[in-house]
Amino acid sequence: MLGLMMEKPLLVGSLLEHAERFHPEQQVVSRLSNGGVVYHRYKELARRTRQLANTLLALGVKPGDRVATLAWNTHRHLELYYACAGIGAVCHTLNPRLHTDQLSYIIEHAEDTLLFFDIDLSPLVAKLAGARAGLMRWVALGTEAETAKAMLEGCLAYEELLSAQSDELVWPELDERAACSLCYTSGTTGNPKGVLYSHRSTVLHALVSALPDCAALSAHSVVMPVVPMFHVNAWGMPYAALLTGAKLVMPGNGLDGASLYKLMLMEKVTLALGVPTIWQSVLNYLDERQLKLDDLREVFIGGAALDKTLLQRFEAMGVTVLQAWGMTELSPIGVVNRPLPDSGRLGAKHFEQEKLKQGRGIWGVDLRLVNDNGQALNWDGTSAGHLHVRGHWVAGQYFKQAESACTTDGWFATGDIAHIDHRGFLKLTDRSKDVIKSGGEWISSLELELAAQSHAAVAQAAVIGIPDAKWSERPLLILTLKSGCEIDLGSIREHLQNHVPSWWLPDRLEVIEQMPLGATGKVHKQSLRERFN
Ligand code: ADP
Repeated sequence: MLGLMMEKPLLVGSLLEHAERFHPEQQVVSRLSNGGVVYHRYKELARRTRQLANTLLALGVKPGDRVATLAWNTHRHLELYYACAGIGAVCHTLNPRLHTDQLSYIIEHAEDTLLFFDIDLSPLVAKLAGARAGLMRWVALGTEAETAKAMLEGCLAYEELLSAQSDELVWPELDERAACSLCYTSGTTGNPKGVLYSHRSTVLHALVSALPDCAALSAHSVVMPVVPMFHVNAWGMPYAALLTGAKLVMPGNGLDGASLYKLMLMEKVTLALGVPTIWQSVLNYLDERQLKLDDLREVFIGGAALDKTLLQRFEAMGVTVLQAWGMTELSPIGVVNRPLPDSGRLGAKHFEQEKLKQGRGIWGVDLRLVNDNGQALNWDGTSAGHLHVRGHWVAGQYFKQAESACTTDGWFATGDIAHIDHRGFLKLTDRSKDVIKSGGEWISSLELELAAQSHAAVAQAAVIGIPDAKWSERPLLILTLKSGCEIDLGSIREHLQNHVPSWWLPDRLEVIEQMPLGATGKVHKQSLRERFN
């Protein structure tokens, strides 16, 4: 027997409608590329989004069309998210840090019909102007006067387009399975792959991400996604904030310590989200000037492992650190680290170790660990294996790829290696492509890197496997150092042996000037392998 409740599709547009009706005065604060800060209320955001939707319709955008953005976190980018989704089109976020060849590939692959860009990115846009020749229109995110600076022939001006349109629109009824946004993986190996999110997956992800044991959002929160809107939809915050009526603070391209500090202070940010490297630069800025952020309660860290020093520095400021693990294919949240009621009774050392794990499962995402033969592993906190996931916001297939992205029994193989303890805390030990196989056993490059990073002289650490006649692979440690510091193999080995088994200790050390970083700010191990192998 079926239930007799109303059936209403889960649509992204409902989040904006809710924010407009119940939180009309709540603010979206945006730092623009010229350093100025502008304020919009949710009621204005909704009105402008309808004008934008009418603009898109006037420009001929049809349901399913991909509309590209090359933009920082601002209210305009947010309007694009909601206007595209609202009319059944797909907001395709492009990462400006990608190489132009990769961007051109992605634009062609997605068959984008329009590209909206922030004006400070116009030199990059000029390089892409040949992409989809004759098939693409370009819109600069500014006024006509500002757009003139973009110096791109035939380029349209966002604000002029909007003001020419009515702010009235009846949103179409859409299928909740319809696509609403598209984000390509960074493609460290092979071409980037498109992950196509649906209205349903996005709304469910927003609901769960707002829960108290996840980002804990409410109308009292002031949330700043430092993580860009082109990096897995700023981890879903542009949706979860409107769902809960939280104030949204958008840092634009001001991602340096000084700009972030200023904005967080001015807007009384309570929760900020970003990758560890961002927080290191913010904390350095604060420490050098003996500053504090009194309103900041929590930082949400993901994308790369949280190290002990970062945790301790935030805790010393009275800020709670929440680590999360996820990936583009997971919209992105997979696990989140919030203490359990009895975590405090573990004792300080064990509690800290638990906080350094990536986190526990959240409703909506199932996890399993399997060994190389596909056999399930126990959750005993030591048996590391391939991490598989499945759930409401996990990719089942990549865009324009006929085959499924899943195993034959319906799981998505994340490419990560992890173990899970009996309390459900997952600890990532490696990427499967980075794990070092030495004498038939696995050495975790991630654990070695975290251990090396805890040395006072070390700025950044990366570990790669290099071929070895006897052991098949051995770890090579690559470091950048803090200014004025020196280190040699003997002293780093001495430090490491307090943290990892002795057979993991690297027999070779390379100190380099600068760590090569990929488009999402992570160490680009492929170029290290090419350089040192
Ligand atoms: P890309 O592979 O393009 O960098 P994502 O940005 O989707 O894609 O990154 C996902 C990967 O980032 C995960 O598979 C995992 O290896 C790593 N990652 C994410 N969160 C964490 C975390 N908290 N700790 C360690 N690694 C993480």
